[in-house]
Order: sequence, then structure tokens, then C-alpha cells
Amino acid sequence: MSDKLQRTLVLLKPDAIHRGIVGDIMHRFERVGAKMVGLKMLVSDKDTAMNHYTEDIAKRRGEAVRKVLIEMITSGPIIAIVYEGVEIIEIVRKLVGATEPKASAPGTIRGDFSHVSFGYADTKKIPVMNLIHASTSPEEAQAEIAVWFKPEELVEHRPGYTKYTLSE
Ligand code: ADP
Repeated sequence: MSDKLQRTLVLLKPDAIHRGIVGDIMHRFERVGAKMVGLKMLVSDKDTAMNHYTEDIAKRRGEAVRKVLIEMITSGPIIAIVYEGVEIIEIVRKLVGATEPKASAPGTIRGDFSHVSFGYADTKKIPVMNLIHASTSPEEAQAEIAVWFKPEELVEHRPGYTKYTLSE
């Protein structure tokens, strides 16, 4: 695979499922032509959540944030998706928007569908409920995809190139 053609991991967190906006969110990625190559709904166990939210998050955001994040991500169903596309890691992050919903721009997923602030979340000792996770680098994407998907669960496909297309 060319280094420009990338895969990225997206998690729709429990708040996205409970808000009933899964379709709205996935539509954003479909509109730009991101190719879905993996999809599953599950309730994560604690070990898997800890493999996803590693020590790195504790270093960047603090151990308290990591703890509540793991509680939150295991508290209900999530949807894990792998998208493929040209420099798709950066494109998906652009569509997702800034981490803090209060600061994320209108037009982004977090900016359009959430509003809470770090200040509020920290007072309440909860993670900011920002609906979605998306990998930030090729190294992170590779590691995160391996946390949630076995290689055989990812589907290679070429839309529009099949003997069953109507044009043939
Ligand atoms: P992102 O999800 O945008 O990649 P991070 O990896 O830095 O951001 O953080 C992971 C998640 O931790 C965020 O999406 C958010 O839910 C939560 N979070 C980060 N910082 C804080 C904070 N200061 N207070 C509460 N929750 C936070």
C-alpha cells in the first residue's frame, strides 16, 4: 500500500450510540469517499480498552482522565470502524474536529453534535463526551486497528469492479 493510501481507526463512543446519531456521523465519512473496510459493534472489556487508551494518554492528559475514559468506553456499546483512503488519517481528524467540543468548529462532527467543555468535565470527573475517537498518526492507526480487529476481519474490496454491476 502506498504511504499516501492509509487506514485509520474510528470508534463511535457510547454517547454517539445513545444519542442515536451513528448514521449522521458515518454519513460524514461516506460523503468524502472514505472506504469502509471494517465494522463491528461491541461492548469492550477493560483490558481491550486499556490497550486502546494506553499509558500515552495518561502522560498527555493525566492518569485521572485515562481512568474515567476507560470507565466510559466500557460503559456501553461502541462501534469500531476502519476507513481506508488517501491521507485518510488527517482527513478523518479534520471531519471529527477539536478534542474539546466547546472549541471544535461548526461543520465538524464534534462541533455540530456536542458542546461540553474540559472545565465542566473536570469538575464532574468525567471525560468530555465528544462522541468519537480517531487515530492521529500512521503508527497509532496501525496499533489501534490491531487492538479492535483481527486481520481477517478487514475486507478488501473494489467498489464498482464486479461482474454484478448493472453497467456490464
Ligand atoms: P482525541 O480524542 O481528540 O484524540 P485525546 O487523545 O487527547 O483526544 O484524548 C482522548 C479523550 O480523552 C478525548 O476524546 C476526551 O474524551 C478525553 N479527554 C481528553 N482530555 C480531557 C480532559 N482534560 N478532561 C476530560 N476529558 C478529556
